Amino acid sequence: MASKSAKSHNCGICWDEFSPRNVVNWAQFVTSKQNDPLAQRLLRLDCKHTLCTDCVQGYIQVEINAYDSKFPVVCPYEACSVQIADQLAKKLLTPTEFARWTAKKKESDPRTFVSS
Ligand SMILES: [Zn+2]
Ligand SMILES: [Zn+2]
Repeated sequence: MASKSAKSHNCGICWDEFSPRNVVNWAQFVTSKQNDPLAQRLLRLDCKHTLCTDCVQGYIQVEINAYDSKFPVVCPYEACSVQIADQLAKKLLTPTEFARWTAKKKESDPRTFVSS
């Protein structure tokens, strides 16, 4: 399927549509000082894929709790291999959950610093 233009504002998991003002780059979301980090936002990942905060949170919670989880956790879009950033996980998870995330990630790949 041809990728749509950047005009699409749908979550790739639940397909909810968001108004453009609720679409944020994940990095912006992570650094935002808003009091309610779980307010519904549509996050744009580095791959330009968009996912709502609810779905990303649910998605990574499943991975950290799964017996057979696959780490590092990547964008759930088909054939996409962009990793979900630690900072984003940290923002969406509780401290306990994030500790699991870190531990699992370490387990899965000792060479965590491989990039591009
Ligand atoms: Zn969603
Ligand atoms: Zn992606």
